[in-house]
Amino acid sequence: MSRVIESERVEVLEAAERHDLALDDGSRVAVVGGGPSGSLFSYFLLQLAQRIGIKLAVDIYERRDFSALGAAGCNMCGGVISESLLQALSVEGIKLPADVVQRGIDSFTFHTAEETVTLYAPYREMRIGTVYRGGGPKGTRQPWWRSFDGYLLQLAVHSGARVVRERVADITWDDSRPQVHLKDGVQTYDLLVGAIGVNTPSLAVFEKLGIGYKQPKTRKTSNIEFELGSDYITRELGSSMHAFLLDLPKLDFAALIPKGDYVTMCLIGENISSEFVDSFVQNPVVKGYLAGKQDHRAGACRCAPLASLGDAVHPFGNRVLLLGDCGTTRLNKDGIGSAYRVAKTAAVTALFRGISSEDFREGYGPLCRSIHNDNRFGRVIFDVVDIIKRNAFLTRAVMRMARSEQQMTGRQRRMSMVLWDMFTGSAPYRDVFVRCLHPAFWSRLVWNIFVNPRSASTAGPGKEELVDRSGLGREYRAGEIIVRQGEQGDCMYVIQSGQVEVLRSNNGQEVRLAVLGEGDIFGEMAIFQKEARSATVRALTNARVLSVDRKIFLRRVHEDPSFVFTILQKMSQRIREMDAKLVTSGGQSEGKATR
Ligand SMILES: Cc1cc2nc3c(=O)[nH]c(=O)nc-3n(C[C@H](O)[C@H](O)[C@H](O)COP(=O)(O)OP(=O)(O)OC[C@H]3O[C@@H](n4cnc5c(N)ncnc54)[C@H](O)[C@@H]3O)c2cc1C
Repeated sequence: MSRVIESERVEVLEAAERHDLALDDGSRVAVVGGGPSGSLFSYFLLQLAQRIGIKLAVDIYERRDFSALGAAGCNMCGGVISESLLQALSVEGIKLPADVVQRGIDSFTFHTAEETVTLYAPYREMRIGTVYRGGGPKGTRQPWWRSFDGYLLQLAVHSGARVVRERVADITWDDSRPQVHLKDGVQTYDLLVGAIGVNTPSLAVFEKLGIGYKQPKTRKTSNIEFELGSDYITRELGSSMHAFLLDLPKLDFAALIPKGDYVTMCLIGENISSEFVDSFVQNPVVKGYLAGKQDHRAGACRCAPLASLGDAVHPFGNRVLLLGDCGTTRLNKDGIGSAYRVAKTAAVTALFRGISSEDFREGYGPLCRSIHNDNRFGRVIFDVVDIIKRNAFLTRAVMRMARSEQQMTGRQRRMSMVLWDMFTGSAPYRDVFVRCLHPAFWSRLVWNIFVNPRSASTAGPGKEELVDRSGLGREYRAGEIIVRQGEQGDCMYVIQSGQVEVLRSNNGQEVRLAVLGEGDIFGEMAIFQKEARSATVRALTNARVLSVDRKIFLRRVHEDPSFVFTILQKMSQRIREMDAKLVTSGGQSEGKATR
């Protein structure tokens, strides 16, 4: 009998403890680090809490002033926002403003010692954005832009977070709650989130918390800003990312990334030394794009940040969670994209499941494991790319295959898709790997190795007009058709700026169903049902529109079903408006124009 009572008591105590390990009205959350993972976690946590009527107090500890120039204001990276991240953010209702995006990128240009090939994004749309993480390169006169990290931090603040401009010096436990030590006192929280990246000694503070956390392995990389002038960049580099597939040892990724007046040179590989950077900028293929300014040692804005090689050990415990680079991140590519995915999943877990180690293991752990497993495929792919770069005949075959695909319509662009997804970081490494196993991929590659006699080409991305390249998506002029009723579609659209009208043809008469503006979506039915477009959408004013691929969309929905919340909200609003119209029209004939 006493044993039964004892086990019931244990159950009650466990339930009480579990109940205690949950966020509720008035719970206090500390987020250490206001980079992408910290800001996005705070933003989503507060947004989700608001939806279910819970009021949380979220403090973000961030010592950096993101408006400062140079390394002081910067989280040191290439600043490329991948197409999958841009599309996901826009579906979540986060549109990057024009003064945050330095340049929209519509293509990727690959350079080898012998030739150059450019791959274009679908619809030649500005699908990738380049940004400054901080205030911009040191020495910049009158910056006209805003920092990307500063913008995300502001999103969190507008959702109710408080920013504390202080460096967290230590963390201890107050009974079972985490305590943050500051210059003049100690603060106790219900949940502590570490989003401190890997370029900080504070990682040791989390290691000694007793949750079993071990920081990820890292390696040294290099970023250098070259001031080449906007006109030169538009003319010579265009709206293209330039990746270099050169026979240089231990180099996973080397790129020139065009921004406003600057080009960021980003080198990621096995401990990039200063001497390695010297030899890279002197390489004849690279030199040609630096307008004779390859003296990077003389006052250029440069940094040598550490890059995470994947994942930490046990990045969570009761009431503690580590996110982004200091937890689990994607190898080499789209680190900000993976910061967004883990931040959102962590916020959903903390709010709807709980904040115990068990809750994080069940709710947050699967995504970390999936990124970890995907990085394994990534490692294999980067090793294969290394072999290709060291063998001129293989490099030539890869470039030939990609080039001939670009010149032919109708044929599946297998090599182009592999290169695009691999270098833009838009698809999981596993997908890229599986695509490389396809027999048709191999037969084309072998044909290009042994048979295709085409000579090398040095065709770059093509000279561009000097026009504003800061917008994302594609610009449509007033009156231009964006989608046509009856056509098959495999993407939906998010309006970045301007207005469009939705039109339905009925018995030869055109009926305007709606006028949509910035932030609105259309064409979503093509994602949910494989049916022809039910209406035509035409630009009413000059409009900028970003397309969202079915595959990218569905992948996110499987990872995070709450991803569709904003779309459901908009669709339900639309149904409400249509209901209201039906009632006011009092059953008038359907075909009557409303224009
Ligand atoms: C060379 C290089 C190029 C890269 N290029 C790209 C790219 O083009 N695109 C891309 O998507 N990713 C890129 N990445 C990866 C990307 O930079 C990271 O994945 C991303 O910054 C991770 O975000 P985070 O919020 O986890 O960490 P971070 O961005 O490092 O932010 C951590 C924040 O924590 C703060 N902090 C640290 N310690 C404390 C403390 N004790 N108290 C208070 N605050 C603290 C810091 O000030 C910082 O603001 C690149 C990385 C490298 C190294």
